[in-house]
Amino acid sequence: MSVRVRFAPSPTGYLHIGGARTALYCHLIAKAKGGTFVLRIEDTDLERSKKEYEVAMIEDLKWCGLEHNEGPDVGGGFGPYRQSERIEMYKQLADQLVEEGKAYYCFLSDEELEELTEKAKAEKISPHAYHDKYRDFDPTEAKKKVEAGESHVIRFKNPRKKYTFTDLVRGEVTFPEDMVGDFVIIRSNGMPVYNFCCVIDDWKMEMTHVMRAEEHLNNTVRQLMVYEAFGVTPPEFAHCSLLVGEDRQKLSKRHGATSVVQYKDQNFLPQALMNYLCLLGWSHPEEKDVFKLEDIESVFTLDRFQKAPALYDIEKLKHFNGEHMRMLTTEDLVNYLAPTLESSHPFHSMDKKWQESCLEFFKEKFNIPSELPQHLDVLFSTEAEKSEAVEEVKSWESTQAICDYVKSKVEEIASSGASFITVEQFNEMTDHCKKELKIKGKFLFKGLRLALTGMAEGPDLKVVIPLTPIEIMKKRQGLS
Ligand code: GLU
Repeated sequence: MSVRVRFAPSPTGYLHIGGARTALYCHLIAKAKGGTFVLRIEDTDLERSKKEYEVAMIEDLKWCGLEHNEGPDVGGGFGPYRQSERIEMYKQLADQLVEEGKAYYCFLSDEELEELTEKAKAEKISPHAYHDKYRDFDPTEAKKKVEAGESHVIRFKNPRKKYTFTDLVRGEVTFPEDMVGDFVIIRSNGMPVYNFCCVIDDWKMEMTHVMRAEEHLNNTVRQLMVYEAFGVTPPEFAHCSLLVGEDRQKLSKRHGATSVVQYKDQNFLPQALMNYLCLLGWSHPEEKDVFKLEDIESVFTLDRFQKAPALYDIEKLKHFNGEHMRMLTTEDLVNYLAPTLESSHPFHSMDKKWQESCLEFFKEKFNIPSELPQHLDVLFSTEAEKSEAVEEVKSWESTQAICDYVKSKVEEIASSGASFITVEQFNEMTDHCKKELKIKGKFLFKGLRLALTGMAEGPDLKVVIPLTPIEIMKKRQGLS
C-alpha cells in the first residue's frame, strides 16, 4: 500500500513553528517511502476559521519547501480537501451510526448538562459520567423528537472498554475505560466535531500514517472508537513531542517569534529552519547536524523520534541559519544577503565581483542577515569608533606618526586614480612603518588599523583594506 500522510491544520491563525515541524515530519514520512503528502484544511470551526489563514498557511508551507501533492489548491483524487466542503458526508455517516445503534440523539440542554457535570464532580466521578442520559432512550421516540424539531446533538455510544494502540513515537499507549464518556459527534447546530471528521477523512482519504503533536494523544482514544464503529483499520499513529520554551512550558507567543511568517520576515533561510526543527524530536542516523531536506529523505525512518519535550532555542536556530548561509553558492549568497541591506546602503553601488568577495569574507562572521550591516561598517564607516581602546591607541606617540604617513600615502594612491588600496600597497605601508618609522608589534598593527579604519579591532586588514573604497579611506584621514 502506498504511503499517504496528511498535514491537517485548522486555519485559525498563521502557521506555527510547531505546526511547521509536524508538517515537516509528515512530508518526510511520505517522501522517505515515495508516498503522497496531503494538505487537508480542518475548518469546521466556522467562527475561528478564516480563508486568509488558509492562504497564508499554504504560502508559508511553500516557503518552508513542504509542497503537498494533494490539497485544496492543487486538487487530487480524494477531495474535497476542506472539511467545510465535506459536511454532508459526515452527517450521513453519523446518521448511519445512529441507525446501527452506535450513536444516539441526545436532548440534554446546556443547563442540564452543566448540572449533571456539577453533580458528577460533587460525587468525585468523571465529569462526563451522567452525560449518557439518552444512551438507552427509545430510538423511535428519539426520532420523533428530532422530526418535531427538538434541539439535539448526536453522541457516540462509547463501548466502555480499555483501548490500546502502538504509537510510533511513544510505544504502547493504553487508555483506561472511563477516560471519555459518550462524546458528541454532531453539535446542535448540525456541525460535526474534529474527532469525528478527522477519522472519516483519514479513512476516506486512505491515510496510512497520522503524524501530529502530542497534545492530540488523548483524542486518539475517541478516534479509535470511531474507526472500530465503522469496522475500519486505523492508520499508524505517531505523536511527536511537545515544543517547549526555556521555562519548559509549551511554546507560545511569550517565548518570542512562534509563527513561520515572522522568520520569513526576518529573512531566515527556510532550509535552516527546517533543519533545526527536524532535529527537535528526531535525530540523524549518522548523528549529522547540518543537512538539507532532500538529503535526509532517503535516511528518514520512524524509529528515531524522541519522546522527551524538545527545547526551542532561537539562538540555535540562528546558528543553523549561519551554517546554511555558508553553504550557499556565491551567487545565491549575494542574492540572499543584498536585498536585506537598505536600498541606500553603499554595498549596492559596488560591482558584482566586489560584492561577491565581500560577502564570501564576511559570511564567516555572522549568522543572520540583520547582523550584516554592523559588520560592513569596517568598510564604510567614516566616523571614528568611540571607545577606550581607540583612545588608548590614539594616546601612543607612534600612532600620530603612522597617521601622518598613512594620510599622505592614501592621498597619493587616490590621486593616481585607483579605487582601492591593493594588498601590495598595504604591505608597503606596513614595511615603511616598520623600517622607516621603527614601529613594531602592537604599536604598529593597532596604529595602522586605527589610521586605516578608525577602529581598534576588527577583521584581517589584508582583506578589509582592498575592499574599502578609497573615497571612504580619504574621508577617514584626519579623524584619528
Ligand atoms: N486540525 C487539527 C490541528 O490543527 C489536526 C490534528 C490532527 O492532525 O489530527 O491540531
